Amino acid sequence: MNNITAVKGFKDILPEEAHHWHQVERIVRGVFADFGFQEIHVPILEKTELFTKGIGDTTDIVEKEMYTFRDRGEDSLTLRPEATSSILRAYIEHSMFSRSSVTKLFSIGPMFRRERPQKGRYRQFHQIDVEVLGAEEPQADAELILMLVHLFKMVGLENLSLDINSLGCPECRLIFRQKVIDFLQDTHDSLCPDCQRLLVNNPLRVFDCKNDSCRRLIQDAPSILDFICEGCRCHFNQVRTCLDMFGMPYNLNTRMVRGLDYYTRTTFEITVPHMGSQNAVVGGGRYDGLIRDLGGPDIPGIGFAIGFERLMSLLQDRQESPPPPVLFIAALGSEAQAAAFKLCNRLRLEGIRVEMDYAGKSLKSQMKKADKSGSLYTLILGEREIQAGEGELRDMGSSKQRTVPLDNLKSHIVQ
Ligand SMILES: [Zn+2]
Ligand SMILES: [Zn+2]
Repeated sequence: MNNITAVKGFKDILPEEAHHWHQVERIVRGVFADFGFQEIHVPILEKTELFTKGIGDTTDIVEKEMYTFRDRGEDSLTLRPEATSSILRAYIEHSMFSRSSVTKLFSIGPMFRRERPQKGRYRQFHQIDVEVLGAEEPQADAELILMLVHLFKMVGLENLSLDINSLGCPECRLIFRQKVIDFLQDTHDSLCPDCQRLLVNNPLRVFDCKNDSCRRLIQDAPSILDFICEGCRCHFNQVRTCLDMFGMPYNLNTRMVRGLDYYTRTTFEITVPHMGSQNAVVGGGRYDGLIRDLGGPDIPGIGFAIGFERLMSLLQDRQESPPPPVLFIAALGSEAQAAAFKLCNRLRLEGIRVEMDYAGKSLKSQMKKADKSGSLYTLILGEREIQAGEGELRDMGSSKQRTVPLDNLKSHIVQ
């Protein structure tokens, strides 16, 4: 029989890696707490219509990449391809807007997209997702960007490149959209087949095309900042003023329109240019109409999602191993083994990382194990030591050994 393996595009996170993830998550949670964010857990499974409504049904995600199935012939359900829709659904469902005017939420967890398998891309991937709901002020946009850049510094990523743009509101974007359609229609035949199709459904997404000839064409396309209305212009200028106030450098990237339909006004992306890839580690922006579109009140929102795997791949050289045990107990003979079992688990209950071996092998073999575990100390217990209520404590660093009383062992261990 063939061994059963993981599904293609799905990946195990082994202990060493999981440990590193945990370290990064701890920093992330700390930064979020400083900025007043609270964690929310939302289900990974939602009704399909949440995403067709939320993300937009002409996006690649909804058209091609969702894991959608009928639940025993009933509802159409989807494994979430992103978290924003789910978080907003929860926000509306629990009337969280009635508790406070501004709600700051974050969530960390797996997302699912049936993308073409390629190196470093998985069908189950993880995102750190952040949403600020109820704040229309440009300060909220700037604050979120500041937090994000601070976060990357805290986990050890420097030399980031921050791109910002404004996508305007639905009114002024409509004007821009028409300008783009006019522009692209003239160059229709030079566009790739995907973009020719987008021209009809979702022309602004042509800006996301990776095709070289499309990219060249887009260089001469109209710029959205020439068409945004007074309100949108004023909002965006204030965001920029706030960033300038902190001396935060950024590139104004008028070609960044983002892949999802729901974005409005401020949009931003962070890339790590010197890492050889232009893929964004994080993308985000404002989505002022989305809560209303999902059936909630007309409340503005802004957020971002960090690709966790991508972030971790940039931090690979900073990986630390999980901490070794503080103490390894090597016990010889059944009586000593029984005493060691009790001692080992008692010390664990007191918060000390202790390991021992139940196989009852020779002292030499147990010392080998202790060495391999990387423990700071090894306690050697034989029948004679048990009778005396003592043990031989060996400092694995200095190889010094001394006799210590078992009932006071903790005071002899320096963690
Ligand atoms: Zn506008
Ligand atoms: Zn194209």
